[in-house]
Amino acid sequence: MTYYDVSMAIKPDIQVYKNKPEKRPVFIEAATHDVAGVYETLIHLNLHTGTHMDFSLHMKKDGKTSTNFDFTRLIRDVKVFDLTHVKDGITKDDLIDFDINPGDFVLLKTRNSYEDTFNFEFIFLAESGSTFLKDKKVVGVGIDALGVERNQKGYPTHNTLFDHDIIIIEGLRLKDVKEGNYHMIALPIKIEAVEALPLRVVLYDVRKNPISNNQ
Ligand SMILES: [Zn+2]
Repeated sequence: MTYYDVSMAIKPDIQVYKNKPEKRPVFIEAATHDVAGVYETLIHLNLHTGTHMDFSLHMKKDGKTSTNFDFTRLIRDVKVFDLTHVKDGITKDDLIDFDINPGDFVLLKTRNSYEDTFNFEFIFLAESGSTFLKDKKVVGVGIDALGVERNQKGYPTHNTLFDHDIIIIEGLRLKDVKEGNYHMIALPIKIEAVEALPLRVVLYDVRKNPISNNQ
């Protein structure tokens, strides 16, 4: 069975949003064999590092947090769309020809997946694209950018998705995954009352693996 691990590896030199030093993960030896007889690592980690999901507290003061998130919403079928030709924001026009039905969870594969360093001109989901997906009644959107949007005043893409309880996954790595239907297994770390959670996201081909039971 072929599993596609579409998660970023978290390491000290992982790409971080706008290359901001304060967003870099810091790995600290918390205990060493020589001193403590055991080895332990402490990580100073922004929760938006690498592959992760956002909760609406990220954008709204009274927004939802990770507490009581139903993790089964991330174990399901997904559709990967190839948008590697898009050069800026993904608009309604870029999405209109795809087969999108109510209840779909869509993953947007762009040229971002081919870049290991942060690109200030990264491909994002434009406001019109987010409105289109909301109108199509998708339940989740994943993208291979560290932000689902950039340079949009008032964060309309985040807010459109959050306002309709549409899950946002950021930081996917979809280079090795072709457009098509997959089953997704993604589990967030269980930290309560926060605005984002790191994810390990794995895809596999549903046609080759008939155990899938999602609709
Ligand atoms: Zn985020």
